[in-house]
Amino acid sequence: MSIIVQKYGGTSVGRPERILNVARRVLDAQAQGHQVVAVVSAMAGETNRLIDLAAEVTGEGRQPTEREMDVLLATGEQTAIALVAMAINAMGGKAVSLTGAQAGIETDGVHTRARIANITPGEVHRYLKDGHIAILAGFQGRTREGRITTLGRGGSDLTAIAMAAAIDADLCQIFTDVDGIYTCDPRVIPEARKLDEISYDELLEMASSGTKVMQSRSVEFAKKFGVRFEVRSSLNDHPGTLVREENMSMESVVIRGVSLERDQAEVTISGVADHPGNAGKIFGAVAEAGILVDMIVQNVSKTGLADVSFTLNKADLARAETTLKPVLAEVGDQVLLEAEDGIAKLSVVGIGMRSHAGVAAEMFATLADAGVNIRMITTSEIKITVTVSEDQIETAAQTVHDAFGLGGEITETGG
Ligand code: ADP
Ligand code: ASP
Ligand code: MG
Repeated sequence: MSIIVQKYGGTSVGRPERILNVARRVLDAQAQGHQVVAVVSAMAGETNRLIDLAAEVTGEGRQPTEREMDVLLATGEQTAIALVAMAINAMGGKAVSLTGAQAGIETDGVHTRARIANITPGEVHRYLKDGHIAILAGFQGRTREGRITTLGRGGSDLTAIAMAAAIDADLCQIFTDVDGIYTCDPRVIPEARKLDEISYDELLEMASSGTKVMQSRSVEFAKKFGVRFEVRSSLNDHPGTLVREENMSMESVVIRGVSLERDQAEVTISGVADHPGNAGKIFGAVAEAGILVDMIVQNVSKTGLADVSFTLNKADLARAETTLKPVLAEVGDQVLLEAEDGIAKLSVVGIGMRSHAGVAAEMFATLADAGVNIRMITTSEIKITVTVSEDQIETAAQTVHDAFGLGGEITETGG
C-alpha cells in the first residue's frame, strides 16, 4: 500500500467549512488506497494572534522567553489537528491526531527556529497499519529532554517534507490557497503563470528571496533527501507544480520566476579602514545580536577606505544601529553609518542563467526604461537581486516579469 503525506496550510483549515473540506479530501485519498498522513498548520491568522497576545502580556520593549513562545505557538497547530481528526471521525472515518512530540519529531534546542535532529515515526506507522489516518501537527517538535520547540515561520512545510522522507512516502503533496508555484506572486502580478515544474535550486532561491509559498528550509531539506513534492490547491483539483531535481530541459528556460520582498532596510558604513578583521567586527556584532543580514556589498576606494553596505529586515534596523554604534570607532577614524528603510528586493531566478549571457544587462536596462533606480546589486549563479525603493517594487516586478515573457507561453530565450 502506498503512503501519501499531505500538508494543509493555514488558509486551508481557516474556517470550520474548510476543515470539513480537508477531512473529505483526506478520506478521498484513503479511499483511493493510500495510507494517509496529513500535516496541518494552525488556522489562518492564529499564529499571529498568539504572537500579538504574547506581546500584550509582556509589555513594550520586553521579550517573552523563547521557551514560552514555543509552548504558546504550538497550541495553534494542536487545536487544528484535533478539529481535523474530529471532522474525519464524524464523517465515519478513523483518524487520530498526533503532536510533533507524539509523531517522533526530535529537534535541537534552538527555540522558535529549531532544526529537526531526528524522526522516529514508530507511532505514525503503528496508526497507519491499524487503518487510521494520522493527523500531524506541523511546525513543532520536542527536544531530547522533552521541551516543546517550533521550526520557524512556515515550518509546517518542513514537517511534511521531513516526515515524507522519514516514512519513505510515495507521494508528498503541499496543499495551499493557490494552484501551485507561479512565475511571481499572483497577488502582485495577476497574469503570473503557474509552473508545471521547478527545480529544488530555483525554488530555494525564490523562497529565500521572498517567495513565501514554501518555507526555504523545507526546500533545502527536500533537496538534501531527494523528496519530490507537489504544490497544489486545497480548493480545487487542478494539477499543481512538481518540485524536483533539475533535468536538461529545465536549462532552456532562462528565467523561471521573479521574487519580491518588502519591508527591507539598507545600512551603509563608510570610511572603514581597509584592514583585516574590520568586516568581521561589524558582522560579528550584528550576528551576536541575533540579527540576520542578507545582501552584503563592499568596495574599497583608492584612499584605502571601504564602504560596506548590507540589507536586513526593517524590523531589525533600530537594534542594528544600536548594536553597531560602539563598533564604529573600532573600524576607522571617520566612520559614518547611514541607514534607510522603505526598501524592497527584487530577484530573478532561473538555472538557465548558467548558460545564457546578458540576463543582468537586460534586467537593468528594463528597470531603467521604467524609471526604476537600482540601489544595490548581488548575484549568484542562478539569481540576480537588486534593491529598489519600496514604492516602486510592484512596477519593477511587473516590468521585469513582462520583459522576460513570463506571463505568456514559455519560450526558450524569453522565460
Ligand atoms: P499556507 O498557509 O498554505 O502555508 P502561504 O500563505 O504560506 O500558504 O503560501 C501561499 C501564498 O504564497 C499564496 O497565497 C501567494 O500569495 C504567496 N506566493 C508568493 N509568491 C508566490 C509564487 N511565486 N507562487 C505562488 N504563491 C506565491
Ligand atoms: N503556523 C505556523 C506559521 O504561521 C507554521 C505554518 O503555518 O507553517 O508560521
Ligand atoms: Mg506557508
